[in-house]
Amino acid sequence: MYKTCDKNVNTYQYLGAIHIHTKHSDGSGDINSISKAARKAGLDWIIITDHNVFDTEEGIYNDVFVIKGEEITPSNDNHYLALGINEFIEPSNDAKINVDNVRKRGGFGFAAHPNESRTRKNKWKPIVWNNKSVIPDGVEIWNWFSSWGDNLNDRNIFKLAYSYFFKNKIISNPSPKTLNWWDELNQKSSKIVPAIGGVDAHALKVYRYILPLTVFPYKTCFKTITNVIPLDKPLSNNFDIAKKQILTAIKNGNNLIINRKICSDIPQIDIVNANTIKSFGETIALTDFTYLDIKVHRTADIKVILNGKEYATNRMKRCRIPITKEGKYRVEFSYSGRGYAYTNPIQVIEE
Ligand SMILES: [Zn+2]
Ligand SMILES: [Zn+2]
Repeated sequence: MYKTCDKNVNTYQYLGAIHIHTKHSDGSGDINSISKAARKAGLDWIIITDHNVFDTEEGIYNDVFVIKGEEITPSNDNHYLALGINEFIEPSNDAKINVDNVRKRGGFGFAAHPNESRTRKNKWKPIVWNNKSVIPDGVEIWNWFSSWGDNLNDRNIFKLAYSYFFKNKIISNPSPKTLNWWDELNQKSSKIVPAIGGVDAHALKVYRYILPLTVFPYKTCFKTITNVIPLDKPLSNNFDIAKKQILTAIKNGNNLIINRKICSDIPQIDIVNANTIKSFGETIALTDFTYLDIKVHRTADIKVILNGKEYATNRMKRCRIPITKEGKYRVEFSYSGRGYAYTNPIQVIEE
């Protein structure tokens, strides 16, 4: 947990990982070892999403809040990460039915790894969201395991060795196709369509020349794509209340997605007008004096996107960007071309 004091507003920030597989589906760890790995990687909460299984016992393990969802996994792609549900949902080969079933049960969902590369050169078949006219509640814009799968050449042992020993160098940016689709969904919706970053952790065991390699250990995954949730008061010690705090923040798009392998500092992004200060996942009125206030710990390439198009770019540690138009704004940060942090949108409206 990080606490930052800024503008006399106390913000508590909680780090977590979403999209994790256990022994209940195709992961290799149990909840005790996975939560231990999460704690060692500095996480406060994790969300387990096994394929078509809903068996993990939720609770606080090794000081980590363990929340359960389901990766609804039909046989024809369209994996859907269902969160905030209380019961198992049977997968359908009609993606629309899965989206509706999650909503009917009071949950919300994210299209998982919607654009894995179709030109992969390894045995892992790419899985995509194959009918983009089916609108999910949200989008997993970055998936650590998918990015790795997109880049690995199975026939090239050196590449395997490279990816094993320097595994985090292989992940650079979310798929531009996915970012575009997410921006389009946001332009079509009057509400904020939220995004998450997923690790898709399996800790799979593969055998090469009789040597078992764990691809990749949970702890390694947990130090990569992280969702940071800012809260104005601390997470409750009561599991049910804390779970609600975490899931509400994700549903609203209050989470910031960062790759901690690039940098573990958390940028601060506020939008300010004459009357108030808001942040991502929130709505603010446009006034004559509205600006984005962005701070990072070391100079980064900062890109502000308005309704899917570049609005402003900057390379610095702190900047103020005047906001003069209504629409949905989001911010990307990168270092030397490698993606580091992605905000959810902030909605600016004319009153
Ligand atoms: Zn999947
Ligand atoms: Zn998965």
